[in-house]
Amino acid sequence: MAGAGGAPAGAGARRWRAGLALALLGLGCAVGSQAAAPNAPAPRPAASPATAPVGVPAEPPALLLPVQGIKASELRDTFAERRGGDEPRGHEAIDILAPTGTPVLATDDGRIAKLFLSKPGGITVYQFDPSGKFAYYYAHLARYADGLAEGQSVKRGAVIGYVGATGNARSDAPHLHFAIFRLGPEKQWWKGEPVNPFGYLGGKKP
Ligand SMILES: [Zn+2]
Repeated sequence: MAGAGGAPAGAGARRWRAGLALALLGLGCAVGSQAAAPNAPAPRPAASPATAPVGVPAEPPALLLPVQGIKASELRDTFAERRGGDEPRGHEAIDILAPTGTPVLATDDGRIAKLFLSKPGGITVYQFDPSGKFAYYYAHLARYADGLAEGQSVKRGAVIGYVGATGNARSDAPHLHFAIFRLGPEKQWWKGEPVNPFGYLGGKKP
């Protein structure tokens, strides 16, 4: 984390990050990307035979780390954390700490499938990858990038929004909640099988 490109540098920032990392432990961070949707069926059971992939499931590509100035070495794998409350099945996402207003970047080429305001996730974006096999979910944004619209094509690295603490994120711990899920055949933006983003963002286990 020291020396992160565009991020605030120096001891102050390091202390800030360290403090946040602690603050996030046990934080009821958002979100079930699926359960939050309107008109969605009840949260799907943990293992649904109807949506189980046949054969070897596709893997997401190597992705761009979606918060400007953050390095892969700063990531912590929080996918399997159990936080109860809003996330009965576990976190199923990664939280990337950054100051409010830090640009959030499209992790891959693709299309903006849905701009959605949810109680746990706050201001969120659902992006489909070019193949339509995966959805990328960005939550707790402070706001969208100017002009961002549903159906819009985006390129990897495009600014789509800004880090914030909307939804159920703690106001003193702004971060991007980022999730990936494999879409089912119906390509419903609110429904899919969670994939751990950590390795696809370059994260390495200690
Ligand atoms: Zn989270």
